[in-house]
Amino acid sequence: MPSRQFGVMAALPINANRRRMEDKCPVLVTGGAGYIGSHAVLALRDAGWPVAVIDNLVTGFRFAVPEDIAFYEGDIADQALLTRIIAEQKIGAVMHFAGSVVVPESVENPLEYYHNNTAKSRDLIEAVVKAGVRHMIFSSTAATYGTPDVSPVSEDTPRHPINPYGWSKLMTEQMLADTAAAHDLNYCTLRYFNVAGSDPQGRSGQSTAGATHLIKVAVEAALGKRDSVGIFGTDYDTPDGTGVRDYIHVSDLAAAHVLALEALIAQPDRSLTMNCGYGRGFSVMEVLDAVDRVTNRKITRVKAPRRAGDPDSLISDPSRIKTTLPWQPQHADLDAIVAHALAWERKLGEMSGNT
Ligand code: UDP
Repeated sequence: MPSRQFGVMAALPINANRRRMEDKCPVLVTGGAGYIGSHAVLALRDAGWPVAVIDNLVTGFRFAVPEDIAFYEGDIADQALLTRIIAEQKIGAVMHFAGSVVVPESVENPLEYYHNNTAKSRDLIEAVVKAGVRHMIFSSTAATYGTPDVSPVSEDTPRHPINPYGWSKLMTEQMLADTAAAHDLNYCTLRYFNVAGSDPQGRSGQSTAGATHLIKVAVEAALGKRDSVGIFGTDYDTPDGTGVRDYIHVSDLAAAHVLALEALIAQPDRSLTMNCGYGRGFSVMEVLDAVDRVTNRKITRVKAPRRAGDPDSLISDPSRIKTTLPWQPQHADLDAIVAHALAWERKLGEMSGNT
């Protein structure tokens, strides 16, 4: 049955969402060895969902996936492998995280991004539909909005990506919408704002070297892995002149995926598109203040030019996710986000033999 996109709907009754353990279908997580994917694996597993992971380990880490999870090293464009995994694991839903995520890299090498994020997603969606998997959750991004001139940003804000990364994700959103209209598939697109932090139990975190994201960069500086943090622009139209973003804890984001999956299964004729953020922003200065507070030290801050394409402020309107899912963020406190990011950064240092 074709699925139908909907906007704000009444929250699903909790009981409809609380499926018994035996009702939980195995879920395939693509990119499950990556930052957000590995947290989704943990959230699914903690909630009692059987999980399998496919990851090509180009940017992911094998250690990020628990040993008791079925792990397939391979590419999402390998349809024969996908078909085998879906049959072997009796997969009933796919959470799709695999892809490339570095915006400047997408500007330098757009075709790689259209290949990794768009073309390979097409192949994945085809394998999913052919195998009769009926539910798909897609990892999208606020970058699909580009530099919106409204704040906060609702899902209906026009999508005008300003880089190939944003376009590569928006194209996949469109493929999913068209495929769901034509085939027996419903999907949920989650548009992430600024994801940060790490698993509060210390089981995973952001492990990629050469980070560019503010909180990761700042905790690296706090631990002496960098000399300083550049502040990219101090003349923005914001209260203190530095860029404002809606930072969301990765474990709250992972929890939203599990709830979205329950919603897709409970209402198989409906698809969803939802922002993932808390609906409040912090400036670069406020984030660095939080890092100083949490570490009880002062990071060296260096004023730097604006980074091309950075909007003044990017804050989500989370009304839809809040009215659609019984989502109750647990880690919205900025200091908690920073503290968890810091704890993981320390652990990474221990794992690599540094202090
Ligand atoms: N930023 C900064 N210094 C850094 C990294 C980021 O001042 O080393 C700023 C950036 O200009 C933006 C905010 O921090 O205003 C968040 O940037 P990030 O790269 O973390 O995420 P984005 O919003 O670009 O996806």
